[in-house]
Amino acid sequence: MQGGGSTIRMEHVSKSFGDLQVLQDFSYTFREGEFVCICGPSGIGKTTILQMIAGLQQPDTGRVECASPNLGYVFQEPRLIPWCSVLENIEIGLHQIMPEAKSERQRIAAEMARRVGLDGFQDYYPAQLSGGMKQRVSLARAFAVEPDILLLDEPFSSLNVELRDAMCSYLQQLLALKPCTSVMVTHMLEDAVRLADRLIYLENRPCRIALEYHLDRPSADRDMPYTYQQMQAIIELLNLNRC
Ligand code: ADP
Ligand code: MG
Repeated sequence: MQGGGSTIRMEHVSKSFGDLQVLQDFSYTFREGEFVCICGPSGIGKTTILQMIAGLQQPDTGRVECASPNLGYVFQEPRLIPWCSVLENIEIGLHQIMPEAKSERQRIAAEMARRVGLDGFQDYYPAQLSGGMKQRVSLARAFAVEPDILLLDEPFSSLNVELRDAMCSYLQQLLALKPCTSVMVTHMLEDAVRLADRLIYLENRPCRIALEYHLDRPSADRDMPYTYQQMQAIIELLNLNRC
């Protein structure tokens, strides 16, 4: 079933780990069907925000409203099960959704493997794959469940420039087939400007949104000059805000 994703609302959220206050009265709405990138320095609270959306962390106060339980999560490391093949790894999330339908699970996993260019590698094990291939399995696994919400935590940061570029293309193709509300943490401004509808830049502790930036051109129509012009505009705005 195709859908546009669902809205995620964080309202007046506070979160501390011991004495460390990461979020204080933090509010933000991730609009249905939009691709939002969260940027900002290490340790600011980006992963904490994703984990709260996924329900893996609970706010101390405030609320995180996320209507859909159908969620895909792509982590910085591929997190594949070493003794499972490519197909079995892609299938993992489907066990809960369709426990009895083994052949349907396998059909979906094979189709997802094909979409991320892993035809012919279905029976390989993670140890036999390159870093980029492992991350493609991770992407295929996230999309196999037809997520309404897609969370990506620095998914391409361990990859070189060419591989990051290829991964961005795979992600765009998968989203064109299955649109969803997407939230991606990245420290690569270039990836954010290529993929995002909207970008938020976090600063300070507890963290606050230093900049929210809307990218007006559809991501498929963004060329290099546009990308670099937008990156420059964002950097200038951030510097202005700091003055
Ligand atoms: P980011 O993803 O922006 O690098 P995180 O959200 O992972 O940052 O972490 C924000 C801060 O909260 C960091 O200082 C980190 O050490 C701390 N933190 C995150 N998760 C935990 C946890 N489970 N227990 C204790 N401290 C944590
Ligand atoms: Mg993080």
